[in-house]
Amino acid sequence: MSRRTKLYEGKAKILYEGPEPGTLIQYFKDDATAFNAEKKGTINGKGVINNRISEHVFTRLAHIGIPTHFIRRLNMREQLIRQVDIIPLEVVVRNVAAGSISKRLGIEEGEPLPHTLIEYYYKDDALGDPLVAEEHIACFNWASNDEMHDISSMAIRINDFMCGMFAAIDIRLVDFKLEFGRLYDGDYSRVILADEISPDGCRLWDMATGEKLDKDRFRRDLGGEEEAYREVARRLGLLNGEDNGPGEVFDLSHARSRLRGPPPLKK
Ligand code: C5P
Repeated sequence: MSRRTKLYEGKAKILYEGPEPGTLIQYFKDDATAFNAEKKGTINGKGVINNRISEHVFTRLAHIGIPTHFIRRLNMREQLIRQVDIIPLEVVVRNVAAGSISKRLGIEEGEPLPHTLIEYYYKDDALGDPLVAEEHIACFNWASNDEMHDISSMAIRINDFMCGMFAAIDIRLVDFKLEFGRLYDGDYSRVILADEISPDGCRLWDMATGEKLDKDRFRRDLGGEEEAYREVARRLGLLNGEDNGPGEVFDLSHARSRLRGPPPLKK
C-alpha cells in the first residue's frame, strides 16, 4: 500500500492528502469521545456506518442545492472531499431541548422549542468549545457577515430537509451540529458544508418509543450504541439484507458496477 501523508487526526476522523490538489481523503475511525475527550472509547463499526450515512445525507443535500465538500465515497471508511479552510465554529441547530441547552437554561429534555434555534460555538478544544454570540464572531473576525448569512440560511434549509428525511423513517431530529468551510477560487471564496453528518453529531430519537439512536448512548453509558447507529443506517435503507454486520454496509460502488454489467467484449 502506498504511504499517504496524514494532514490531521481528530477525535473521530483522519484527513489524508488527496490524489489531486484541492482534495483530501477523510477516514472515519471507530473511536468515540465525549465531554471534550474526557471520556474515550470505541464503537465497533461506527466509522463504516458514519461514512455511509454521511455520504447519503451529503448527497441528498447536494440534490437540494446545498454546496458540500463531499465528492465521493472511496471505500468502507474513506471518502474523497474538497479541501476547505474550516470556519472555526460549530453550528448547532436545535428543534427540541436536550443536552447542553437543557442544562444551561433548565429546560426539560424533550420540550419542543417554540422555534428552531441556531447556536454558535467557537471551535477550541482548550477552551471547551464555548458558546458565542454573533457579535463575538464579527468582533474576532471568525466569519464575515456575508458568510454568517450563508451559514444560517443553509443551516435552516438543512434542518428542514433533515427533519423530513428522518420523520419519514420515524426518527425525531432533536438537534445536530454542522461545520462549514471556505472553498477558494482565486481571491474569491464561498462557504460550503464540511465535516460529516452522522449519529455522532445529531440527536435522533425514535418517534414512537423516544429511544436514543445516537452518541448519547455512549455519552450517557446507555449501551447498545452499535445497534443504534446500525438501526439509523437500516432505516435509511443503507444496509444490504437482514443480518449484515458493520463490515457489510451496502456498497453503492459495487451496486453501480452490477447495474452497469460486465464491460463490453472487445471485438
Ligand atoms: O451538547 P449539546 O447539547 O450542545 O449538543 C448539541 C448537538 O451538537 C448534539 O447533537 C451533539 O451531538 C452535537 N455536538 C457535536 N460536537 C460537539 C458538540 C455538540 O457533534 N463538539
